[in-house]
Amino acid sequence: MPIPYGRQAINDDDVAAVAEVLRGDWLTQGPSVTSFEQAVADFCEAPYAVAFSSGTAALHAAAFAAGLGKGDELISSALTFSASANCAAYVGATPRFADISGETLNVTAETVAARLTPRTRAIVPVDFAGLAAPLDEIRRAVGNDVRIIEDAAHALGGQGPDGPVGNCSVADMAVFSFHPVKTIATGEGGMVTTADVALRERLVSFRNHGFSAQPTLLTDEGGWYREQHDLGFNYRLSDIHAALGRSQLRRIDDFIVARNAVAQRYRDWFADVDEVILPPAATAPQRHAYHLFVIQVRSGREQRRRLYDELRRRDIYAQVHYVPVYLHPWYRETFGYGPGLCPTVERYYDGCLSLPCFPMLTEAEQRTVANAVIETLRV
Ligand SMILES: *Cc1c(COP(=O)(O)O)cnc(C)c1O
Repeated sequence: MPIPYGRQAINDDDVAAVAEVLRGDWLTQGPSVTSFEQAVADFCEAPYAVAFSSGTAALHAAAFAAGLGKGDELISSALTFSASANCAAYVGATPRFADISGETLNVTAETVAARLTPRTRAIVPVDFAGLAAPLDEIRRAVGNDVRIIEDAAHALGGQGPDGPVGNCSVADMAVFSFHPVKTIATGEGGMVTTADVALRERLVSFRNHGFSAQPTLLTDEGGWYREQHDLGFNYRLSDIHAALGRSQLRRIDDFIVARNAVAQRYRDWFADVDEVILPPAATAPQRHAYHLFVIQVRSGREQRRRLYDELRRRDIYAQVHYVPVYLHPWYRETFGYGPGLCPTVERYYDGCLSLPCFPMLTEAEQRTVANAVIETLRV
């Protein structure tokens, strides 16, 4: 069996939770969704949580709820999955890209400020690999009129300087994904947390075709009456998925502890391997969620390619996170971006490789991975 870079951890409780929904009355739009939303809100210490059918749908809804449209600009980290920036384009806005700090691999107040224009309406800082982005300093740099949409897809279970990731004490909204490689899985699924009740209403409406969240009370048309005020989508999460998420969330602390143990072993084993640059760690009381454990190969592109291929040959499916978003053909062709825009991201991309890191990875499997890395890079 190949060793992937990430995978879900499903147990009998998860299976039972899903089976219970299947035997019940609600496959969608039922109580499991509400219960999962409440559990995520409580866990993140955020006032509200709104579930979506994917993290991408959640980002789309967040861009809509933030009021972004034609002529507006959104600044995303350039080191992320395309969805962080695609959400701007979905609503007709222009995605721009901020460089990262080589130390934290996250955007900073300076790199974001360098892209601010009078048209900037939203920032999407990414908690890269599971390390909380510096939201406080970004907020100070952009002021209160710009929306901060934290892309926390890597970081559910992490702790930032102001408490749990996604608490929205600084960000207007935080977005999570429950893809199987993320820290909890629903299959496909996502969530937005927020402290703003007006944003919550817009998110709920957008998820359901743009229908108002509450019955319109100003008419006596009848009990069935709902109005569509916006153009939304069907981005609902099903109760089947929600039940799995609710069950998974009960074990998230174990998952994060296990991910941190994997990370610590890699750190110990690679401590004197000069070719391996270790990723940034979180300093207590902050906690890294380690969605990814990303090393950099010091000598760059060619050695990274050799390492990737050799691991693959040995059935170890390491991965590269990420091709800088603006270098994808669609971004080059649509917005005229090209090499040189974010030099630190490009340098980082040349050497980075995500090694297997997930709760069920056994120490023996991990040893196999580490030995393969060391043997390959020492030749
Ligand atoms: C996984 C991920 C997403 C998208 O989530 P999906 O649930 O796969 O749609 C968005 N942003 C980042 C940074 C991600 O890692």
